[in-house]
Amino acid sequence: MPDIRPTVGSGALVLNATYEPLCVVSVRRAAILVLSAKAVCVADGDGVLHSARNALPVPSVVRLTRFVRVPYRTHVGLSRRAIFARDGWRCVYCRGPAETIDHVFPRSRGGRHAWENVVAACARCNHTKGDKTPAELGWRLHHHPAAPKGTAWRVLGHRAPDPRWADWLDLREPLREAEAA
Ligand SMILES: [Zn+2]
Repeated sequence: MPDIRPTVGSGALVLNATYEPLCVVSVRRAAILVLSAKAVCVADGDGVLHSARNALPVPSVVRLTRFVRVPYRTHVGLSRRAIFARDGWRCVYCRGPAETIDHVFPRSRGGRHAWENVVAACARCNHTKGDKTPAELGWRLHHHPAAPKGTAWRVLGHRAPDPRWADWLDLREPLREAEAA
């Protein structure tokens, strides 16, 4: 195993043999895939990785040499950061900076912890809302929460994409939100 010290913090995009984007891995992991001939580098990042015997340009995008069948994950994982990213780091009620996660239909009353029922909210709105529903308060949501869709979301989640990945990911929608990260 080569001793690779990544010089950059960003990851590398992994493409299937068919160029379909699969996931983001650490630069070190991508370099090991290339050095073990499991992948080829298709776009270089910044800098050079040094191992005992090799000097390898930092991979930014690698493509697997053999096709791997991946169970298609249609659901984006529900996480605090992903909810903030989806809602643009804004409170869904007042559009102020969001600091908390709110369950639209309160959990204490059976509201689900699901994309359709969680929103980014500011601390003030969240506190005021308490165990009430927006309808009970006469509040309106800026948008109706839904699970994010699309390849970029599936591959990146809340990660801010490297502009070098744009050729392989449709970044139109998530980029706008990820930029706020
Ligand atoms: Zn608010």
